Amino acid sequence: MSAQPSVHPDVMDKLVSLCKRRGFIFQSSEIYGGAGSVWDYGPLGVELKRNLKERWWHAMVRARDDIEGLDAAILMHPRTWEASGHVAGFTDPLVDCKACKGRFRADKLEDARCPQKPSRHPGQHEACALTEARSFNLMFKTHMGALEESASVAYLRPETAQGIFVNFLNVQQAMRQKVPFGIAQVGKAFRNEITPGNFIFRTREFEQMEMQFFVEPGTDMDWFAHWKEARMAWHLGLGLSRDRLLFHQHDARELAHYARAAFDVQFDFGGTLGFQEIEGIHNRGDFDLSQHQQYSGKKLEYFDQVANKRYVPYVIETSVGADRVALAVLVNAYREEAVPGEAEGRVVLGIHPALSPIKAAVFPLTKKDGQPEMAHRLAAELRGTLAVDVDETGSIGKRYRRQDEVGTPYCVTVDGQSTADGTVTVRDRDSLQQDRVDATQLKGYLAAKLAG
Ligand code: ATP
Repeated sequence: MSAQPSVHPDVMDKLVSLCKRRGFIFQSSEIYGGAGSVWDYGPLGVELKRNLKERWWHAMVRARDDIEGLDAAILMHPRTWEASGHVAGFTDPLVDCKACKGRFRADKLEDARCPQKPSRHPGQHEACALTEARSFNLMFKTHMGALEESASVAYLRPETAQGIFVNFLNVQQAMRQKVPFGIAQVGKAFRNEITPGNFIFRTREFEQMEMQFFVEPGTDMDWFAHWKEARMAWHLGLGLSRDRLLFHQHDARELAHYARAAFDVQFDFGGTLGFQEIEGIHNRGDFDLSQHQQYSGKKLEYFDQVANKRYVPYVIETSVGADRVALAVLVNAYREEAVPGEAEGRVVLGIHPALSPIKAAVFPLTKKDGQPEMAHRLAAELRGTLAVDVDETGSIGKRYRRQDEVGTPYCVTVDGQSTADGTVTVRDRDSLQQDRVDATQLKGYLAAKLAG
């Protein structure tokens, strides 16, 4: 449900088609008719998502000395999910429709469509016959080992956080960290969502970037305020428009029973989807570590040597979906605009250059006079540090359009003058300004532009 209506147009269908056509995102197992709400990242999509994850990793782990990285396994001891509350409580209310055989989330009927015509929400047609809501567990179940018996049940993790909690003391002791400190990881999570959809917004397999920050009880609300602001600043730093971002505070109804406070960062996806959560910032108190202590029988306390006291730290969590933010970046970046002096307009993905899958494209103006050779030589030099594409086909205008559409910030053209005096033109995706640059300076010129 949208917290606030959107003033931005719905560009989702256009993006889905662009993403397929230009190699960002394909439907999983498409030749078999597709797997429900699972998507594959193509050559440009994998670069975009990787750039995003690296930016997060840099901000959360590399740039700080109080957060450690971790890559915990997807499969965990099944008791983990009893302790975390997921076996008993990670459920959504499910309703069936006896008329159309559709299944819907009882709390999100307004987001769903009844398959009968005309298009309405489930329950709104006279023929709709919705059952009472029942709890549906979202965890994917599987078996570990050769025996398919109840003792061997395992789950695909529905969140990455539990791998962090169970490793809290391992990391703290191995890295000699002192509270306050955090543990961060990026990894796949799986949820058997009842009503997935909206492209990569809600899928059954997705990637999370989570960080749990362990603090002394009593200091938790200050750290919560700190992380709330820090995470919003990160989203703004990705180039997401300020007017498309807001905080949504969880009220008593939404707040998990153990949570002391929670805010979502919401992004305006446009159209009817509108403002939706992209990240959650939660003050989880000592719930998780206490639960794991109880279920494992192992102490998960921190010993503060200076104060000579033991305690179970409180946790401030920041939990963000890599796919959902990738979608926000694409929606935010998509624009259609007129080109001065040309009849045909252009589609531009105005992605932050740090996230762009291709940083520079090199075009030989013609296929002769040594221009292709010079273009390939330049591209080879740039490839040492940048993702570069060479495009030799079609008019220069067409080649610009192709790169604009995938968000390439700089296009380098090798022309007749280039082979004579060693200079090339560099065209900026957004301002359309062209600079003549000495080819020997090109690497430094682009590096400075991309850093700026
Ligand atoms: P929602 O209410 O949208 O289902 P949630 O509150 O269950 O989300 P969390 O459990 O807090 O989400 O997960 C943290 C982040 O993980 C979300 O902000 C979102 O970016 C991402 N995420 C959660 N579920 C999905 C999904 N099914 N597909 C893609 N991303 C997801």
